[in-house]
Amino acid sequence: MKKNILFGPAGNPIGFSGKTIEVCDYIRELGLDAYEYQATYGVRIQKQSALKLQKNAKKNDIRVSMHAPYYINLSAQKDDVLERSIDRLVQSARAAKWMGAYRIVFHPGFYTKYTPQEALNRCKFAISKLMDDLDSIGIKNFTFAPETTGKRSQLGNLDEIIDICNSFDNFSPTIDFAHLHARGRGCINESDDYYKILSKLEDVLEDIGQKIQPLHCHFTKIEYTDSGERKHHVLSETEYGPPLELLLETLIDCGWYATIICETPLLEKDALVMQQTYQNLL
Ligand SMILES: [Zn+2]
Repeated sequence: MKKNILFGPAGNPIGFSGKTIEVCDYIRELGLDAYEYQATYGVRIQKQSALKLQKNAKKNDIRVSMHAPYYINLSAQKDDVLERSIDRLVQSARAAKWMGAYRIVFHPGFYTKYTPQEALNRCKFAISKLMDDLDSIGIKNFTFAPETTGKRSQLGNLDEIIDICNSFDNFSPTIDFAHLHARGRGCINESDDYYKILSKLEDVLEDIGQKIQPLHCHFTKIEYTDSGERKHHVLSETEYGPPLELLLETLIDCGWYATIICETPLLEKDALVMQQTYQNLL
């Protein structure tokens, strides 16, 4: 079976009650191929555990990514917030290396009182500082993956994410299709809507081959308001978008390699539904 697209849960599967260092045994048993470690409330994993997680992932041939803490704002006004944000990303890069994570996903920041352009510039300035910090402590071989964000108050529409990725080496986008759908107030409905996103990545992102194969994605059904995302929903709630099957069809038609991390409340169960939907399309 051809496996251009790998699926897995955002965080530990609901049905798993063991230790995180052994979670990839469980994911392999389920038949999934990816896992996103969640450091969303702080990078707490110790080196020894992270190394064991890496070993377990390799044994089971699971592609691991890592979600950095939520409390990051690289366009913050206050210096201490900026410093803490940069620190959290340094810690994330270190832990990602230990666990062999191929991507470090993070939400870049908020516009607050700034115009989008100002916020973007501030964010890129903070990233330059992050790069200096990582360089000075000798951390290499990381790939940061800024995510398209779901609230209109957050820095991180598709153009901004592409701009950030074009501005630095070792940056590759995380495309959260539900977030794009929510911040666009329900903008993804047809194959063509997905096609436009993928063609934009192909057209505007530099070094595309190097930067995005495979494309790192998040997917869930999502409820939104005028200001963006409100709530994640399970796949079976068909009243919510964006459509799953059209995404998979478009990725297949355009020959993309991808990782799709399932962020619905059903995590591994819906990841399996996604995978089954994909296999039925092949
Ligand atoms: Zn996401």
